[in-house]
Amino acid sequence: MQSITILGATGSIGRSTLDVVGQHPDKYSVFALTGQSQLKLLAQQSVEYKAKYAVVTDENSAKQLSGFIHALKGQTEVLFGEQALCDVASSSQVQVVMAAIVGAAGLLPTLSAVESSKKVLLANKESLVMAGSIFMRAVQQHSANLLPIDSEHNAIFQCLPSNNAVDSQTAVKKLILSASGGPFRTWTPKQMESVTPEQACAHPNWSMGNKISVDSASMMNKGLECIEAKWLFDTDIKNIDVLIHPQSIVHSLVQYVDGSVLAQLGNPDMRTPIAHGLAWPQRISSNVPDLDLAEIAQLTFEQPDLEAFPCLKLAYQAAEIAGDAPAVLNAANEIAVDAFLKQRLSFTNIAKVVEQTLNSFDFFEPDTLAAVQESDARARRTALSMAKQLEL
Ligand code: NAD
Ligand code: MG
Repeated sequence: MQSITILGATGSIGRSTLDVVGQHPDKYSVFALTGQSQLKLLAQQSVEYKAKYAVVTDENSAKQLSGFIHALKGQTEVLFGEQALCDVASSSQVQVVMAAIVGAAGLLPTLSAVESSKKVLLANKESLVMAGSIFMRAVQQHSANLLPIDSEHNAIFQCLPSNNAVDSQTAVKKLILSASGGPFRTWTPKQMESVTPEQACAHPNWSMGNKISVDSASMMNKGLECIEAKWLFDTDIKNIDVLIHPQSIVHSLVQYVDGSVLAQLGNPDMRTPIAHGLAWPQRISSNVPDLDLAEIAQLTFEQPDLEAFPCLKLAYQAAEIAGDAPAVLNAANEIAVDAFLKQRLSFTNIAKVVEQTLNSFDFFEPDTLAAVQESDARARRTALSMAKQLEL
């Protein structure tokens, strides 16, 4: 029996994780669930899964949540604040932590799980993009068991040799990340100027939170994933390619020197990589319907268009610069996406805000968490003023 903390339990990944955990009550029990809003849902989840703790971000939410849990006759104890998030991620009573908070807010609690040598199921790609070098050093130092949940990285993990290394000895030549291309794959930049948050969040294949849906539509998501892959698989960004595959059935591929290409396929449902991470190195069922390739009939592939999707190009550039450039990219993007979702910035200006923020920085190698946080904060301030200038 393994005890699990789910950071970001009310989100898309959090709900899918609870779905899989609920299918295997003999294997997993819930220690703590966390969420920022959707307090009624968090209360229901806490009571249904008999969580020992539920954690929210502030005192007011904690009071409301306690009321909801009490009304449901639940026993869950309510905590609040960043330290509480870190505590439930590092508790000695926990073996597995699902890191599914969205954005930079996930960094500290995820790192806390790593530093406590947990099995960490990583969905929160932003923490690795921001602080890859510090994060991976902590994974090594504390012998944490870091398993990728992002579907592309989970696919690559499944296709790599068991030591998980990309080097001349394992004869891996390239990692190929597949990308659906999002809802605007065939649109011109002109057409994309006037898209609404609703259009950007309507992903053709995946049902996800708003921030990652917008990132998928701009292809920043794929850029963040290239940086995530560089850290997870300890390889140069030059060894990572992006391949557009609109059906989202081939989740990513590994190319070997002898010409072999291994891929992992499946229906686009995050319960597959979640079940894989939870049970690894074994397998458990996930309730995802069997893949029917005859029914799908056609899988197609094309090159990404870096001119129509400048965010992908910017992410590649930040990865090449390295140092704190990916942290600056990520922070600027979070600010720009937030402004877009609040209808204060046009979709195509997301890339402009990120580009202008990157252009205004002199980069350096941050070797402490405080230095990363300082770059993140400074990039947010710069991006906010850029977004203000471009405001609708
Ligand atoms: P979501 O918006 O649906 O859920 C986010 C969760 O984080 C919620 O529980 C929310 O309450 C919590 N949260 C938000 N801001 C917070 C804050 N400041 N402090 C504490 N908690 C906060 O997002 P999602 O789609 O589930 O994505 C979660 C993470 O997983 C993201 O990093 C995303 O990139 C990654 N991911 C998601 C998918 C997917 O299919 N949804 C796939 C791959 C990777
Ligand atoms: Mg992904």
